[in-house]
Amino acid sequence: MIKLSQPSISEEAISRVVDILRSGQLVHGQECLDFECELAEFLGVKHALVVSSGTAALHVALLALDIGPGDAVIVPDFTFAATANIVEMTGAKAVIVDVDPSTYNMDSVKLEMLIESWDYPEKLKAIMPVLEFGNPSDIGLYREIADRYNLALIEDAACAMGAFLDGQKIGTFGDFACFSFHPRKTLTTGEGGLIVTNDDKNALKASLLRNHGMQRTEQGMSFKMPGLNYRLTNFQAAIGRDFLRRLPAFLEKRFTLAKQYDHDLLPLVEAGKIRLPNIEEGHSCQTYMIVLTHAKPRAEVIAALRERGVESNLGAQSMSALRLFQHSNNMVNMFTVGNELFEQGLALPLHEGMTEKEVGVVSECLRLTLQ
Ligand SMILES: *Cc1c(COP(=O)(O)O)cnc(C)c1O
Repeated sequence: MIKLSQPSISEEAISRVVDILRSGQLVHGQECLDFECELAEFLGVKHALVVSSGTAALHVALLALDIGPGDAVIVPDFTFAATANIVEMTGAKAVIVDVDPSTYNMDSVKLEMLIESWDYPEKLKAIMPVLEFGNPSDIGLYREIADRYNLALIEDAACAMGAFLDGQKIGTFGDFACFSFHPRKTLTTGEGGLIVTNDDKNALKASLLRNHGMQRTEQGMSFKMPGLNYRLTNFQAAIGRDFLRRLPAFLEKRFTLAKQYDHDLLPLVEAGKIRLPNIEEGHSCQTYMIVLTHAKPRAEVIAALRERGVESNLGAQSMSALRLFQHSNNMVNMFTVGNELFEQGLALPLHEGMTEKEVGVVSECLRLTLQ
């Protein structure tokens, strides 16, 4: 079976994990601190705080910006449910905006229209765009819009570790940026996440929220505010440090494989059977998702590919289709694009351990399935 995704854990990482287990130093300690320094350097940010998941990172960012009951945060329609869920878990409202059909990211025109015609009782506090599947497009525009309307910008960069736009790393545009280290992402620690910021005050607040509101002082532990326990463990950090060293090569490999899909699948595009994702320089290629035109129902395509030894799946959810979050029926809040991507999107296998030959096999299986 050619799998959708397969994390590359090295023998070196495994033996480092065993060493840490033997040492007994399990919770947040030197290995996590070293990992944070390396991540801050890699991303070019002042503060990098490792946490227990991408969802925890988003939670800490929202709480650090004092977002809660009476507030609203704009999220894209096409994403994993965690993006909108976590806004609601703070007591704030997640308000959905549609996405762009070529990038799968938040539609910046509809975003601005939504802000201009804001008619919700809640106070709009922040925009939380997703760099969907690692696509860096439009993050500069979201920053401009946030500044124009005096809103905070939180990057949900869960899929975008290593992505960049015009040479600037994803993670450096937002007031906060949040990454996930889940096994489906470009860098994994099993479970894990990261919150980054260039702002000293935001960083201090986030570090307190992550660790019971505690701060180490000369006199011992001081409790500054109520907090959570969202710490990463040292043995997870060891896996992450090993991954980070190999990440640039992995990203190059993912990009090459994605471009090969673009090439191999072109005949199916010309036959009107699929649309391809828009993959340009700086994309982290966390997922390669095509869109099926209505030649065959997606469930049938997934089953037929499985028969041929290829794993595939839907790409992401549509928040409006989940019917858990707030939206009105005015023009800016139609979700035609997000709904189509949710219903017709097909994620194909893509990971750094794949070969170009396997991409060819997947493309050929898809051709046979759709003919
Ligand atoms: C994976 C993902 C998350 C959640 O990350 P976890 O580490 O699984 O908590 C949030 N947002 C997006 C866009 C994701 O893809």
